[in-house]
Amino acid sequence: MTHNHKKASSLGSFIFILLLIALGIGTYLIIKSPAFETNKPKITLPISYFWNTHHPFNVSVSDDTGLKNIIAYLSNGHEKIQIADIVFKKPIKKYTLQIKYPKIGFEENSDNLKLTVIANDISKWNFFKGNNKIKTSLLKVDSQKPDVFSLITSYGITRGGSAIAIFKASDKNLKELYVQTSFGKRFKPSPFYKKGYYAVLVAWPMKEKRFSAKVVAIDEAGNKTRSRLSFFLKARSYRTSHLQAKDSFINGKISDLADDRPELTKDLSPTGKLRFINETYRTENDGVIKEITQKVDSNRIDDFDIKPFYPLHNGKVVGSFGDHRYYWYKDKNNTISESYHLGIDLASIKRDNIYITNPGVVVFADYNGIYGNNLIVYHGFGLYTVYGHCSTLLKRRGDVVRAHEVAAKTGATGLALGDHLHFSVMVQGIFVRPAEWMDSKWIQTNIIDVIENAKKMIDK
Ligand SMILES: [Zn+2]
Repeated sequence: MTHNHKKASSLGSFIFILLLIALGIGTYLIIKSPAFETNKPKITLPISYFWNTHHPFNVSVSDDTGLKNIIAYLSNGHEKIQIADIVFKKPIKKYTLQIKYPKIGFEENSDNLKLTVIANDISKWNFFKGNNKIKTSLLKVDSQKPDVFSLITSYGITRGGSAIAIFKASDKNLKELYVQTSFGKRFKPSPFYKKGYYAVLVAWPMKEKRFSAKVVAIDEAGNKTRSRLSFFLKARSYRTSHLQAKDSFINGKISDLADDRPELTKDLSPTGKLRFINETYRTENDGVIKEITQKVDSNRIDDFDIKPFYPLHNGKVVGSFGDHRYYWYKDKNNTISESYHLGIDLASIKRDNIYITNPGVVVFADYNGIYGNNLIVYHGFGLYTVYGHCSTLLKRRGDVVRAHEVAAKTGATGLALGDHLHFSVMVQGIFVRPAEWMDSKWIQTNIIDVIENAKKMIDK
């Protein structure tokens, strides 16, 4: 009897344990089943966002098993406006919610709005309510465009030349400010004199037939203002030269320079070598100069007391800026290469002193292909001077140059036939006419007077 009872009781506990296991497995299967997944939906929303309210913006909502519904509302602390209440008839994994400013709007003007987005998925978890995700973002409402007001510019700009523009730009959330030109180049303005004012040197590249420029100001919310800068445009044509490429030139200087790039030039014909040096290599060397000289520091400009550059005392101009040079070989009609001369050539005696008229910082002092030993000095406000074909460089990169200091000696390194100085002036990476920056009257009228007049207008 006792034995039998014992048998029945152990059978009962066996069944009980079996049930427990079954329940455990069942629960495990339910938890592990996709229908009961516990992953919350994802809402991609920045913590804060500048919003101009003119353009809707997108919030991405997603869930691995499927979204059931999305709710969104905007609140200014007192009023709450629902802007979305979406129920998906068929669950979807990804939805782009477009946030639009409510048509009815808020009764009081609200600079800050709180956006709340709530998403539920189709999971049966959480007593069949699904997984719930709530995300909020602070929307900084700014629908005001930046204010841009052109104060004064140089009266004119010459093709190949430089000019200054001074303007006011203000916005409570200003993000980007630049001068956009018709040929793609963007010039970076410097802060000028007093808060909210800016000055910029601009340049009209000699190869461009047209020139126009406008100030572009963009704020954090994407509000954009464009304001045209008006200059009297002065056309200017540049000379064209036809030069004979003699064998002595090709076998001498050109071959020597071609040896800088043996892997690219060893199989070229003599005229092929000339074309490589005069075009491909020149573009590469010009690129080095443009890259270094496009930078502008962010120092405030109060004055730009620049003196006319006078790099060689008693130097004679032997090559002009903008000269379009064609090279012919054996026959005058057999043009084999062309290039533009983007500086002036000055010659006096051999190994003459090269003076840096205005103070600055050496930003490059190295060999640079056709420019030979090449010195580049930064004078602030995006203005640089370039000295090529030097025999000796007396300064190193990073050195400070005092006004009228001798920083190099003339020579014939690079693509130069005789001892001379190649002198270029750069404005934010653009080769400009050195003649302007060597002319005290031009500097006075076009730069210094404009700055002084701008300051008077601001102080008034
Ligand atoms: Zn030159």
